Amino acid sequence: MRAVPTVLDLVHDRDPLPGTVGAFLLPDIAALVDCGAGANLASLESELSGHGVVVEELEHLLLTHIHLDHAGAAGALAARNPRLQVWVHRVGARHLIDPSRLIAGTAAVYGADFERVWGPILPVPADRVHAISDEVRLPFAGAPLAVPTPGHARHHLAYLTADGTCYAGDAAGAAYGGSSTYVEPACPPPDADPPAWQGTIDRLETLAPARLAIAHYGVFEDVPTHLEALRERLALWLERIDRGEESFVEAVWADRRELADPASLDGFWGYAAVERWCHQGLVHWRDRVAAAG
Ligand SMILES: [Zn+2]
Repeated sequence: MRAVPTVLDLVHDRDPLPGTVGAFLLPDIAALVDCGAGANLASLESELSGHGVVVEELEHLLLTHIHLDHAGAAGALAARNPRLQVWVHRVGARHLIDPSRLIAGTAAVYGADFERVWGPILPVPADRVHAISDEVRLPFAGAPLAVPTPGHARHHLAYLTADGTCYAGDAAGAAYGGSSTYVEPACPPPDADPPAWQGTIDRLETLAPARLAIAHYGVFEDVPTHLEALRERLALWLERIDRGEESFVEAVWADRRELADPASLDGFWGYAAVERWCHQGLVHWRDRVAAAG
């Protein structure tokens, strides 16, 4: 029987566009992979209720990384559900327990009223935060294998379940509509690391999951094609770093128009508007490597 991962379509309270940000409900265990931002919480609850689940019943929250569109609501969920156990990479754990740096960083980019965009960022009690450093089978019944997958973020994890689904967060890039013809590697500053990401793609190929469940957005069944498309796009973006931001952005849009589903251009890719941010992330990475000699 073919497993169908349960995607939860998280729309923003004030700016809803479906099919851009996803979390996943795991089969057989009361666990979520990612939870979105606080501003997506009403949407998360409504999506869960569509599957007969309420927040208070969840036992585990498996975070791929602590970027706010994946983990911003973790503290709010932990406050609502005192049994909820939160799993995260070691490097992200302290920022869940004490989100002051996350809050300061978000306020620096979005202004003091960042809660309008992201919702409140609440701490997760330390005794319910479980830090993961290496590849490990999580210690509860039916648990997935947690796999460090750096590249998009240094502290990124993917989760591989027994049915062969890899819940990849952003580690398998972003793509639209189940088609792996066009896959983008989101490279945000300050910790995008393209060589680390190439290693992650190698590791995912070795693990050979049957399908990828990715946050932006959905389920992708042709895993070899998907990972190869991601690898090629990352290499191409590296070649284009020195063109400057405007030229990089134009080239990204030319590729999208040529290769991506036309239905994704205005909504999915236009909405996310990550291309400038990706160029900045790549330049930041290259400067960091150069400074390290
Ligand atoms: Zn991210």
